[in-house]
Amino acid sequence: MPFSDGTYEMDAAPNCAICNAPAYPECPCEAERLQIAVKQAEQRAMDERMAEIRDWVINHARQHILNAFDRLTSTRKQAHSSYLASLPNYEVYMRYSGHPPIHPMYIAQLQTQIAEAHAELKRGIDADWRASVLRYPEILDYFYGLIELRLPDDRSPRVVEPPFAAAGYADRGYADPSRLSVEKKKKKRRDREGSIPPERHTALHRIMRGPPPVPTPPIQHEAYPRPPGSYF
Ligand SMILES: [Zn+2]
Repeated sequence: MPFSDGTYEMDAAPNCAICNAPAYPECPCEAERLQIAVKQAEQRAMDERMAEIRDWVINHARQHILNAFDRLTSTRKQAHSSYLASLPNYEVYMRYSGHPPIHPMYIAQLQTQIAEAHAELKRGIDADWRASVLRYPEILDYFYGLIELRLPDDRSPRVVEPPFAAAGYADRGYADPSRLSVEKKKKKRRDREGSIPPERHTALHRIMRGPPPVPTPPIQHEAYPRPPGSYF
């Protein structure tokens, strides 16, 4: 539907910010750049924290597994010791360091029983370890489940009015001085890599929000000037 000045809604939509093609048909540049920008921002914001969370989860899962394994094996070792102590001639065998003054037949029989008991203990410990290690997925799920990631309240002042929107939403870029110097240093490298500096994300709003912004008839145009330098 044409506006009173004869223009059409489509004509008011800005050209592609990347290749300057007309808004329709929509080219993929902006969506592609946005994907890159989101991925890079996510890496900057999350990589370090994700690594920290991963270390924390692994350490606690590992500690839990080791503790559980220790409990299992100490029970098993106690049972093993009790069994050995119950064997005929075991006490004298140990007291004489394996050379007790008894008939060689008893010694041979006892040695077989001891060897079998040791092999059984070894099999049991292997089984305990296997059972413990196989629980990792469940234990990792548990500790990851303890991590809290919270989105801020949509009504929070820091969300409604971020620092770069302080001047009535005439976006002038994020002016945190501590960040500015770093950004300047990074700019050259970033330009070479073809990525999108965070202060230039404004033009990508239409991809995030769907259709292009409501077109502004000429009479209102002065009230909503396109912020200079907001588009790349
Ligand atoms: Zn394009």
